[in-house]
Amino acid sequence: MIATTFDYQRVTSVDEAIQKLQAAGGRAKLVAGGHSLVPLMKLRLSEPAVLIDIARIPGLAGIRETGGQIEIGAGTVHTDVAASTLLREKCPAIADTAGEIGDPQVRNRGTLGGSLAHSDPSADYPAVMLALDATILLQGPKGARTVKASAFFQDLFTVDLAPDEVIVGVQFAPIKSAAYAKLHQRASHYAIVGVAAALDVKGGVIQSARVGITGAGSHATRLANVEQALGGKPLTAATIESAAALAGAGMTDVNADIHASEAYRRAMIPVFTRRALTAAMARA
Ligand SMILES: Cc1cc2nc3c(=O)[nH]c(=O)nc-3n(C[C@H](O)[C@H](O)[C@H](O)COP(=O)(O)OP(=O)(O)OC[C@H]3O[C@@H](n4cnc5c(N)ncnc54)[C@H](O)[C@@H]3O)c2cc1C
Repeated sequence: MIATTFDYQRVTSVDEAIQKLQAAGGRAKLVAGGHSLVPLMKLRLSEPAVLIDIARIPGLAGIRETGGQIEIGAGTVHTDVAASTLLREKCPAIADTAGEIGDPQVRNRGTLGGSLAHSDPSADYPAVMLALDATILLQGPKGARTVKASAFFQDLFTVDLAPDEVIVGVQFAPIKSAAYAKLHQRASHYAIVGVAAALDVKGGVIQSARVGITGAGSHATRLANVEQALGGKPLTAATIESAAALAGAGMTDVNADIHASEAYRRAMIPVFTRRALTAAMARA
């Protein structure tokens, strides 16, 4: 199908993007890489009257470390996250994740901000944002606003983002002992089940753990029972085995679709939780 007619406007600053979003009164959409929005427009599931192109805003892309925190600009494409020396050294989990998204074309155009705003239930980044306890940085008509990842992903394709707000980046404390493991759809590489785990370890004991899951339910979420089972325990294969076995217990909204039944997803949740935790343990 062909998309409905729309107006196209390119902006050179976040403020200009916000002004144009406001001026369009809810009839405009930002476009970054276009890899999620354009397919929706071609199916006429999204029919914006105006497309506001934010792909060339100077400074919206980039990866930097300030005051012990890593900040990734919303316009950063997956390829640059995957190739970042800073991330490879300080927080390899997120670089690994970016390298496993889609194919080279998707990674060369798709952006972190677009992925978070779109919040596909099978997208990879949301699980990692949860495990890193990242803060999402937003800009809107009233100024800057921040939201923790744990509050950002709310429901199917639903996030804490107003129609006239722009995601400008994410911020998190780097952690080496974190990893992401996913069972991917063969064609698209989206996660059927994807689990990200981050372990804070001191003297061989897990001080705290954060585990995020994607692909399984309507939106990415934390596996609180697994996190609790890990906290205060010695970092051993046995600890991981017993905590991972709890993954998915109590999850009520497990997806079923053409890629995997609910039963298969339920079976895979502990498997990929164990894999993510084991990989995080190897980095501790
Ligand atoms: C064939 C294929 C395979 C894929 N495989 C995977 C995969 O394995 N894993 C995975 O996670 N993803 C996958 N994707 C999705 C891909 O990562 C997309 O690039 C990403 O989800 C959206 O990013 P984008 O920059 O293309 O956003 P766009 O398509 O431009 O925008 C998506 C939505 O986000 C909004 N938006 C964009 N930027 C911002 C911003 N800064 N602030 C606020 N709103 C914004 C837009 O208005 C729109 O609603 C795949 C896509 C395709 C086409």
